[in-house]
Amino acid sequence: MSVPNQIRTKEKQFVYSFTELDRVKDLVAGDWDAVRGMLGGKGANLSEMYSLGVPVPPGFVISTNACTDYLENESIFPQGLWEQISLVVTEMEKKASKGFGDPANPLLVSCRSGGKFSMPGMMDTVLNLGLNDVVAQGLLELSGDERFVFDLYRRLIQMFGSVVMGLPDDIFETVITDERQRLGIQSLSKMSGEQWRLVTRRFKEIYRAHTSLEFPQDPYEQLRLAVAAVFNSWNGKRAIDYRNAAGISHDLGTAVTIQAMVFGNMGDRSASGVAMSRNAASGEKELEGDYLLNAQGEDVVAGIRNTRPLAELEDDLPDIHAEFVQIADRLERHYRNVQDMEFTIEEGKLWLLQTRDAKRTAQAEVRIAVDMVEEGLITQVDAVKRVKPEQVDFFMHPQLDTAALPDAAPFARGLNVSPGAAVGVVAFDATIAERWANQEARDVIMVRPETKPDDVHGMLAAKGVVTCRGGRTSHAALVARQFGKPAVVGVEGLSIDLEEREMHIDDVTVKEGDWISIDGTNGLVYLGQLPTLVPDLSSPHLLKLLGWADEIRQLGVWTNADYPRDAERAKAYGAEGIGLCRTEHMFFEADRLPIVQRMIMARDVGERNEAIGELLPLQRSDFEGLFRAMEECPVTIRLIDPPLHEFLPSHDQLVNELSDLKVQIQHFDSMAAIDTALDQIRVKQNYLVRVEALREENPMLGTRGVRLGILLEELTRMQVRAIFEAAIHCQRDGVDVQPQIMIPLVSHVNELKLQKETLENEAQQVLEEYNHPDVTYRFGTMIEVPRAALTADEIGRVAQFFSFGTNDLTQMTYGISRDDGERFLREYQTHGILKDNPFETLDREGVGQLMGMAAEKGRAENPDLHIGICGEHGGDPRSIQLCHELGLDYVSCSPFRVPMARLAAAHAALERTPS
Ligand code: PEP
Ligand code: MG
Repeated sequence: MSVPNQIRTKEKQFVYSFTELDRVKDLVAGDWDAVRGMLGGKGANLSEMYSLGVPVPPGFVISTNACTDYLENESIFPQGLWEQISLVVTEMEKKASKGFGDPANPLLVSCRSGGKFSMPGMMDTVLNLGLNDVVAQGLLELSGDERFVFDLYRRLIQMFGSVVMGLPDDIFETVITDERQRLGIQSLSKMSGEQWRLVTRRFKEIYRAHTSLEFPQDPYEQLRLAVAAVFNSWNGKRAIDYRNAAGISHDLGTAVTIQAMVFGNMGDRSASGVAMSRNAASGEKELEGDYLLNAQGEDVVAGIRNTRPLAELEDDLPDIHAEFVQIADRLERHYRNVQDMEFTIEEGKLWLLQTRDAKRTAQAEVRIAVDMVEEGLITQVDAVKRVKPEQVDFFMHPQLDTAALPDAAPFARGLNVSPGAAVGVVAFDATIAERWANQEARDVIMVRPETKPDDVHGMLAAKGVVTCRGGRTSHAALVARQFGKPAVVGVEGLSIDLEEREMHIDDVTVKEGDWISIDGTNGLVYLGQLPTLVPDLSSPHLLKLLGWADEIRQLGVWTNADYPRDAERAKAYGAEGIGLCRTEHMFFEADRLPIVQRMIMARDVGERNEAIGELLPLQRSDFEGLFRAMEECPVTIRLIDPPLHEFLPSHDQLVNELSDLKVQIQHFDSMAAIDTALDQIRVKQNYLVRVEALREENPMLGTRGVRLGILLEELTRMQVRAIFEAAIHCQRDGVDVQPQIMIPLVSHVNELKLQKETLENEAQQVLEEYNHPDVTYRFGTMIEVPRAALTADEIGRVAQFFSFGTNDLTQMTYGISRDDGERFLREYQTHGILKDNPFETLDREGVGQLMGMAAEKGRAENPDLHIGICGEHGGDPRSIQLCHELGLDYVSCSPFRVPMARLAAAHAALERTPS
């Protein structure tokens, strides 16, 4: 079925038969990615299946080059395309011993889109091309089955009408619904041939009325219009939206696969089905799928008829079932990946229509990767590469805490197609879901009869999805899984009344805007807002995968933790140290705040030292807790950072409270009440005086960090003392402690020198008092002010470690407030001024350059300098990549991001390693 040489040499080749895979591979030097780029994933896989000896109906692919050429040239087909198509159709006719448009023995074909990356349901497909009035009559004579023939014909007109001519699908569906109601028929399979013939006639009338054209009778014209529609669908709104959401480039174009039709609706030895070679939700190694006897494939995917589990095929057609199991295994071994397959059985003959790498949940991704290593299909490095760091995050997804509400009973049950819990208000359409979520910041659960590609924007905005219809391979299931949205689909008995804006199941009614909670892990839906639980990171598969990642990565992964319980959790997640303990967080604790306020309000040094003295034992026990939780690992304690007035009530609040008290006092008649109120007024006035004295116009650039530590030397000394006393207590109990003392907001080396002197004096004093030989510690600084990065050589001579505080470093490098910047940063991203939010992903060119310079200058002066990062970027996979490239020693992030960071660090190390 190859195109003769004279065509190839005269014109560019746009059309490739399934038999020509080797030729395509030669053209692109065997690069499979490029083959997919040319033939689309579907076309490439069909050609490959053919070459593996899998039964595939004959066909050919129109390459993506033809599509891009067509779209770039005002929708004109590239020269020579149709000559090439006509040649391969002739070959196909020979192979199938049928003729395209031949009523005596008709060949019908499907026309499907298929880009390099799968976009389920996003683009267009037309089936049964080649049918017309004459061919239908011929097929009727041949098969003697009127029902079969006119069911095909009405499907063609319906699909052609909506996909090619852009007619609303409803105008066709209404005809079928009316006819069914007129006849009192429940299932479409009960429609007779005569009734389908009638529907076909009505469809042709509708087509004529809406297009002012007759339904085309020339098979080649049908084919031409269908190919053009598929090409055009690449630039359709829903395809563009999908590509934007999935990060697929817009200039790739789609290929078109034309393939001989085979029919699953030719009686009880015929069937259509879909299957996954492993469970796509849990990853378990079990072939699963759905099929329908005597049906076309779309009936299975649409979820309109209730499908049967694939295992039952063993009873219906045992030989075919056995053949399918064997083919699924062969395909999985060949692709070394879990396969999502479509098949048709035509009168006892099995045909594979499609295979592709299956979309799956994060949990399944991890389990399959690990299992496949153990089955010898892939290497550990492959497995690590296969799982995206963000997917690890799904293991940290909240789950419903049903134990907290033992009486909570689900009011609806469906299929558990995408795990995790979601709590939100019900929205019955995508537009409302999007508006409530994005404009009104409400948590939304989108509930639909079923989802279609037009609903994707609502699904993306929603926290979770529920549908009345659809199976594990339905659109809702695939998309929810891909985007990590918890979903429950196919909730039996659930009906939605779109007019009344409410849904019903049994005797329960839920109105739009009411709260529900969904459990995508178990397929359950509850009324109201249920509490959620953070799950344990206990999947043995994930632990194994992270263990492999640890062997690959070069970056250490530490954590930002202020309390022993966080430190313990982070250690269990694999943290190798604490990279940042923000000591001021300990000052905000309810039992400490009054003492801290007394320290700030003190009228003299004596009073202040008294308050600081009260803080000492509290801080000491804080640090002891951390040292014990992180035994043998470094614990970086940063001395107090924020400005003092943050510990006092706000200026406006005090003014309001004082004026309220002054009004109230006029109405008191008891002297005792007046005395109490006067006392309160005195205290608040004192606060107000202090707040005004401490008030700064720009506190982020004011007396905070090291500046505060220098001004309040007693405070620095107290914190140092607490650290050393805690370390001594631990050492005496045999606990191996590794304190690191970190100074914040340093901009000049002299600040650091001063703090170092204070620290060393206090440390010496503590050691002497305790008669303790030594505590080994590291002294270092945050690099979070641009001047510190620029003078990192001088600072590197004094510090033993640097930790990049990229929250402040980004704020000061960009001159964008970390607290107020979000408002316009979103606009900046929308307008393409900035690609990423720099507070989320490190700004490689600016902040990254400062970091690189600081690391280089620091290490030039101090080759042993240990360097890490503790800004929020330490938990962002792309920023972790940059940290690896800059040669940092570790990243530090919140406990929940530690597992993800371990994998991201391994990915960073593998970035240039071929698989
Ligand atoms: C930073 O600035 O990056 C940092 C870690 O410190 P903080 O967020 O406490 O200012
Ligand atoms: Mg900071």
